[in-house]
Amino acid sequence: MKKTIRQLVAYYKKKFNTSNPFEIADCLHIETQIGDLGSRAGCYMYLKRHKCIFLNDNLDKHEMKLVMAHELGHAVLHPRENCYFIRNKTLLLNSKNEIEANKFAMELLVSDDVLKENKDFTIGQLSRMLGYHEKLIKLRLQ
Ligand SMILES: [Zn+2]
Repeated sequence: MKKTIRQLVAYYKKKFNTSNPFEIADCLHIETQIGDLGSRAGCYMYLKRHKCIFLNDNLDKHEMKLVMAHELGHAVLHPRENCYFIRNKTLLLNSKNEIEANKFAMELLVSDDVLKENKDFTIGQLSRMLGYHEKLIKLRLQ
């Protein structure tokens, strides 16, 4: 039976005892490199049978973690397809793969506990508190 994205994230969190996308990538032997990617925030590539994630060194810490979690989603869910994360644009893309990678990222970065503690918050309030686009919060609540 195919696991849902939510189940898959829960599985990795438990198996590796972390919700940090960098640590999970490490455990899965996914190579991560940080450098100058121009206008791209990040990308995922399957190179010579290796899974590689590239992140732009101009991202702040919060953004880098989000892009990393998104690319990790591709590495796990769509390992043979290359993806480019372009700031602002990627969040608005409606392709199935991008939505799935964003959903993966939100499951990883936003815990059930945080949502439970703030269950009276609107999507807008959660978005401001957590620092993620409303579109991402909506994906997390689905
Ligand atoms: Zn993507």
